[in-house]
Parts: sequence; structure tokens; C-alpha cells
Amino acid sequence: MTELKSGFRIGNGYDMHRLVKGRELILGGVNLKHPDGLGLDGHSDADVLTHAIMDALLGALALGDIGKYFPPEDPKWKGADSVELLGQVMNLIKDLGWKVINIDSVLVAERPKLKPHIDSMRKNIANVIGVEIECIGVKATTNEKLGAEGREEGISSHAVVLLEKI
Ligand SMILES: [Zn+2]
Repeated sequence: MTELKSGFRIGNGYDMHRLVKGRELILGGVNLKHPDGLGLDGHSDADVLTHAIMDALLGALALGDIGKYFPPEDPKWKGADSVELLGQVMNLIKDLGWKVINIDSVLVAERPKLKPHIDSMRKNIANVIGVEIECIGVKATTNEKLGAEGREEGISSHAVVLLEKI
């Protein structure tokens, strides 16, 4: 792409994974317990929050999406720790001369209760991105039992990010 020399860029990311038996439930790098023993299905650890943030970071610089960098058909990424993958995306962003101003995100899940774990998720993400925890917003909402998230068929996440040229 043409080199962007100055200014700010905004990025937006979205992800959803299916809830199934026999998988871990990892959100923002935090291992959670679902009351029915459900976890998120996927090739990597299926951490939807971290995936939405990665897509937002890549999207801010129009670099494509995570499937381009970590293709699901590549056995290398099987069971991958998404927070580590986020670190790799962040290295790319830094190498291109950009820094994160802030990230805001939302998780859509009926259960389990996410509120007690939000700060741990924010800390994990802030650490790997290299910003203060105040720069990372993570919110949790239910879908009022509506739609796929409401029926607990899956958990989704949305994220926006603002980058500034260093
Ligand atoms: Zn994903």
C-alpha cells in the first residue's frame, strides 16, 4: 500500500465463534468456565475478543484480516494462543510506524457473567499492545436471549481502534 505519512486511522473488527462442548472458553486471554461446560470452537483458541481486536488493528491500515496472516488451514495455528497472535499483529503495526491511541470493544454473550473478568482481559490486551489499561475498553452485554448469541449458539465481539502515526 502507499505509505501513510501522518495522521490518524480508525479500524473496525468483528468476530463470532460457535459454542460447543469439549472446548475451552477463552476471552481476552482469560480462561472462563461456562455453566454448561461450553467453549468456543475454532482452529486457534477461538478467542473472539482478541480476534475482533486483531481485525480492527489490521483494518485501520487496510492490511486485510487475520485469515490472511494466520490462515485456518495452516496447521501451525492449531490451538494457537490468540494473545500471542495479537502480539505479532502489533509488531506489524509498530514496524509500519503506528501506535495505538485506544481500543474499544464489546463482547456479546448470555453466559457466563463476564463482568468479574473484564479487567483481567483489559490487562492482557494492554500488556501485549504496550499501552496503559485505560486505553483498552472491554464491555460485556447479553443479547437479551435474542439471536445466535442469545440462544448460546455462539459468542461474538466487536472492536474499534484508533491508530496514530509515530
Ligand atoms: Zn475468530
